Amino acid sequence: MRSGIFLLLSAFCLLFSSCSSSNSAPTAALHAIPTLTPTVDTSTPIISAPDTATPDTETPSLPHYTLNVTLDYRRKRLTVEENILYPNTTGETLSDLVLAVMPNAWTSVFKLTRLELNDAPAKNYKLDGQRLTVTLPASLPPAGTVELSIAYSLSLPEIQEELSTTKILPQFFGYTDRQQNLVNWYPFIVPRGADGWILHDPWYFGEHLVYDAADFEVNIKNAEEGIRPTIAASAFGEPHGEWTRFTLNNARTFAFSASTEFQRSATNAGNVFVYSYYFPTYESAGEAAALAAADAIEVFSQRFGPYPRESLTIVMSDFNDGAEFSGFFFLSKGFYRTYDSTRANYLTFISAHETAHQWWFEQVASDQYLEPWLDEALCAYSEHIFYEQTDSPLLEWWWNTRVDAYTPHGYVDIPLDTTFEDEEYRQYVNAVYLRGARFLDDLRARIGDEAFFAFLQDYLNQFNGRRATADDFFTVLRQHTDADISDLVSEYFQGQH
Ligand SMILES: [Zn+2]
Repeated sequence: MRSGIFLLLSAFCLLFSSCSSSNSAPTAALHAIPTLTPTVDTSTPIISAPDTATPDTETPSLPHYTLNVTLDYRRKRLTVEENILYPNTTGETLSDLVLAVMPNAWTSVFKLTRLELNDAPAKNYKLDGQRLTVTLPASLPPAGTVELSIAYSLSLPEIQEELSTTKILPQFFGYTDRQQNLVNWYPFIVPRGADGWILHDPWYFGEHLVYDAADFEVNIKNAEEGIRPTIAASAFGEPHGEWTRFTLNNARTFAFSASTEFQRSATNAGNVFVYSYYFPTYESAGEAAALAAADAIEVFSQRFGPYPRESLTIVMSDFNDGAEFSGFFFLSKGFYRTYDSTRANYLTFISAHETAHQWWFEQVASDQYLEPWLDEALCAYSEHIFYEQTDSPLLEWWWNTRVDAYTPHGYVDIPLDTTFEDEEYRQYVNAVYLRGARFLDDLRARIGDEAFFAFLQDYLNQFNGRRATADDFFTVLRQHTDADISDLVSEYFQGQH
């Protein structure tokens, strides 16, 4: 029995403690990046490409990204040759493509050296902050395919650990003195919705990007004279000559972290390997994170549906946050420092939370900017489902510590850029995550366990590999219950559902 264990968290800023950012709205764009004049680099290729597995010549059903990366760990610099095979599955005839280039939201980080379309230099494109718009020389009909080839270098920015009023981006990308984190680090074609390309402006906190599912082949080698760091990634790497090859299919985004100091523990959940990378002296917390994630995979596989891949990688991070990516998540070093060898702590339930994103983000994606509750409320409530199945005496502790201690209020269905009178990030988490968990618990009590889990499984099935909206959520829900939930909807939601 582990009931009655209360952990006093230290006062530093954790993901779900009282972090706050500025009270004022962010100023327009991140950094003004002048529009680049298209340039063609006719010099010798930056790197010699590895023997790349050629995608099928028939039209692929998903975009295919091949990224050949030379990592110069000592100089905190990468050179990248990227190839994108993009099948037009939008149902529309396209005259342009929009790519998210998040590294270009920083100054002097992203340097484009070559951009080609179907093997010819792209003549008409505009790179403005995080947005790269490429005008197609000929329109791309539905089911047509276009190939982009992009060469660039990245000079990593330093990760600013402390949130401050001047901080605009929640910074996972960049380096610290012992870690280099590559997230949203390559140009990718954003999804297309009813109103065109979906690329929101970054916000102070939270995640603003939306992803289509895609296939990835990432080849990484170290610069010749460079240090050889350990690489933790969205997929497990296989040696391929001088390269290490990572293959990740039907995924939202490929992330990796490199360090010369990583230690690793591994466990498994059935056929799924769970790898935990952490810094020296945190072995017990690193192992606990892996064990919690493995338990979470077992629980969520049973409750929601199968885990989609062969591995899950956890990385201890030098920023005060947790963050999910495909087959991969970061956990703040703060959670490791406060780990107390029990299961009643942030390390454990945030491990469960980030693991749940492998269902609610990875398999069923949504617009994280307009409807962040769709994945965050489900992942917050998944923490409850995790404790219920693995350590039910801790449920009361979890409600008290995670939810009620903050007396959350606010509507669940607010967008990311909602402004509050004070403590914006805390108020946002309270509404979206914590009231979201309360809503799902009330909903479950109203319709019963059988309908609740049948609904979640069906929602996963119907939207696996796609993006769901709140309307989709409620449409599937009503296929599983006739219960009147109108009072719950008006209590928790500002919109009509
Ligand atoms: Zn989350």
